[in-house]
Amino acid sequence: MHAWKRLSIATVIVAAAVVTISPRIRFSAGGALVNLGMGLQDDLHAFDLAHEHSITPQQVWQEFAHNNELSSRVRDVLPRSVEHPLVALAVCMDARIDTSELAGDTRRYYYVVRTAGSILEPAEQEMLELAVRNGVKVLVLTRHTDCAAEKAATHPELRSRFPALVNAVDRRDVRLNEFLQRPLIREKVEKGELLIKQLFVDTTNDHLITAAQLNEAVGKITPH
Ligand SMILES: [Zn+2]
Repeated sequence: MHAWKRLSIATVIVAAAVVTISPRIRFSAGGALVNLGMGLQDDLHAFDLAHEHSITPQQVWQEFAHNNELSSRVRDVLPRSVEHPLVALAVCMDARIDTSELAGDTRRYYYVVRTAGSILEPAEQEMLELAVRNGVKVLVLTRHTDCAAEKAATHPELRSRFPALVNAVDRRDVRLNEFLQRPLIREKVEKGELLIKQLFVDTTNDHLITAAQLNEAVGKITPH
């Protein structure tokens, strides 16, 4: 038997086993395949356009639109099943953070609010409350390491150049408390129907960590 034929048969057997044996194996195998795809694309700088300074905005848009065209055609053929999210995430808009990696789940079965510095202005507060009304049971409110918005707030020149942004960063805790004191949010938390976690994202690997873990990690890197 040819090697490729044996390989094909083995692939079919493994695929059949994955499909029939265990949802957990299917879930993990799906994640592995997504990461395989990411690995195939990740260092293709010719396609990310980021380092080609001579390229025009129109050319960047054409590449972006072309990729969207291809991607949406795939989704036409393989439509996603729709589930009702039980988790909502508040995450900074930083491009390095991947919410699929945060959730360990490629299906996007969660609401995501992304803002500069993951600050909850009134509109975002209302969106999250709406998500809770729609059945969300866990809110994951994050900040992250190496945040450009937070850095801007500590830089005198950037403070004067981006006053609205730094004002929002300065008022982060005020906004957070506003949200936590909203009647529906308080009621759900008190009844044990809603869990709110405040965590940091390690920007290097999308690991969710506590403030204590972050302080410990920073301490290891730069001892005082
Ligand atoms: Zn950020």
